[in-house]
Amino acid sequence: MIKSTDIGSLPFEGDFPRFNNSANTYAPGSDNSIFFQETVVQSFIDKLKAGVDVPTYPQFRDMCKMLLDNLDGIVKIEDGYAVTGKLNPKFKGIPEVSAINANEKTICESIGRKYMQRVCITGPYTLLSQIIQPSLDELSKLTDALKEVVRGCIHQSKLSNVELIVIEEPILGIVDDSRLDYLSRWREDILKSWDTLFHIPKTKGIKCGLHLHSTINKIFWDSQYLDIIETEVDDPLFTSNETLTLLNKHDKFLKASICKTNVNLLAKNLAQKTDKYVKLSESERLGQIWIDLKKGLIDPTKIIESPELMNQRLRNAVDRFGEERIIYAGPECGLKGMPNYKSAIACLERSSKVVSDL
Ligand SMILES: [Zn+2]
Repeated sequence: MIKSTDIGSLPFEGDFPRFNNSANTYAPGSDNSIFFQETVVQSFIDKLKAGVDVPTYPQFRDMCKMLLDNLDGIVKIEDGYAVTGKLNPKFKGIPEVSAINANEKTICESIGRKYMQRVCITGPYTLLSQIIQPSLDELSKLTDALKEVVRGCIHQSKLSNVELIVIEEPILGIVDDSRLDYLSRWREDILKSWDTLFHIPKTKGIKCGLHLHSTINKIFWDSQYLDIIETEVDDPLFTSNETLTLLNKHDKFLKASICKTNVNLLAKNLAQKTDKYVKLSESERLGQIWIDLKKGLIDPTKIIESPELMNQRLRNAVDRFGEERIIYAGPECGLKGMPNYKSAIACLERSSKVVSDL
């Protein structure tokens, strides 16, 4: 049975600086943390109630900053970060995951059952892109720090389990990187870093995933402990003839991406189908539909793709790869860009129903 999942991010509604501050100073049980915990837990419950089988913590914060600003041994300078010594996470884990785990009883009571969780952690390759002139030594320091974060996210209890830990590497393959050429030291060390991080959940029976935005660089196939590959809806991985051979050869699995989240594209598609906008030029059309969305003249949930289209993508993936090679399905990442929180949750509700109806 394919399970529905999500990538994490959502639009934040409310006092973001307050949320961000309390995340950066999070300590379980402290009074300062109540607002942070309540926001995270409510949103996680919203995802479960939307029908997501294995939801991710709500990722309201910037995926790189939330990890890098938590490190001792690094300084923020104008164009990025500079490493000044050994890297140590101040909080050993992800505050959002910790807040969810600390409230598992409340969450179970609210949904009337136990639940599973997907945890995403920004990967070393993507984090290094924020560090000025990174070296292999810095990759190794970063891996040591990330090990502590991964360890802190593992949670297995009677009420809830972390089922899947995903290292997010959206930067990989986006620009050509000769450092990753076959047999190069960087390539070997990036693979080693991923497998060092994956080894920790693997020994606990937790699945390991890699979240990508491009699969042009084939390095990930050589990761020993990687189980699940995630990528965007239009990635050739989902249509290439060699994918099934590679999945079988390397014994890997897919998260099928069944729903697009690029909000400008979605708004454009809706405008093309709506009489009011058809007479306008393409740029006027996009401008006008955004004005109307912001004014509430159009229901923002209207921009979400149809269940038929999502179902078609899921069926195509199942036909091509077989149900046994697809463990999860859900929208691609980017729900943070949706017009509002409600429409992002509505998107999760729709895609999860498509998965459970299959
Ligand atoms: Zn992503």
